[in-house]
Amino acid sequence: MAQHIATIRQELPSGTRLVAVSKFHPAEALMEAYESGQRIFGESRVQELMTKYEALPKDIEWHFIGHLQTNKVKYIVPFIALIHSVDSEKLLAVIDSEAAKCGRVVDCLLEIHVASEESKYGLTPDSCREWLSGNPLDRYPHVRVCGLMGMASLTDDESRIDREFGELKSLFDELKASGHVDARAFVELSMGMSHDYRLALRHGTTLVRIGTSIFGERNY
Ligand SMILES: *Cc1c(COP(=O)(O)O)cnc(C)c1O
Repeated sequence: MAQHIATIRQELPSGTRLVAVSKFHPAEALMEAYESGQRIFGESRVQELMTKYEALPKDIEWHFIGHLQTNKVKYIVPFIALIHSVDSEKLLAVIDSEAAKCGRVVDCLLEIHVASEESKYGLTPDSCREWLSGNPLDRYPHVRVCGLMGMASLTDDESRIDREFGELKSLFDELKASGHVDARAFVELSMGMSHDYRLALRHGTTLVRIGTSIFGERNY
């Protein structure tokens, strides 16, 4: 595992960080990655994240990458470093109010749906543009919107994946220049997983979320 992490790290430019996606893997596997220097871990289920948070070293930077239900926000807000998957104003509002209660400003990314598969999650580029044009973020001082997250289609067609990452990158540039987000805070582009992170690197991803290539297949 240490070798997998080292190999991936060598491919990443200095501005790109590795999120080790550890969902469904036991705490011992995370500890092994930790011992090889990995500090950022991504989880997609609140209960699993809480159990690992309790058990593992406190200098781990936890990222939440899955669908987040509003009634579970309160459990992770006290310690979460970055929530990648904000896809509604309702969720953003709940994160804001829970963050206010514990005196934090929580870093979040907006999840954008660019893949061709149907998905219940993620804002479309158009709905995101339209929503932000009303400057809604001003109402949520306990949330800092730091950029965008997205997933490409699950396909072998590299040109399609390339196009989708390109779409996400252009939306990122457009929003950063729009005046509707805080351009100084808007610096992260979370895209690229085990099978497609090399394509994401071409489009300037700053956070690659890699599970299988580090930990092996997941047992669901
Ligand atoms: C599981 C997951 C990943 C990691 O996928 P791998 O193919 O195992 O690298 C990345 N991003 C999200 C949102 C995920 O749910």
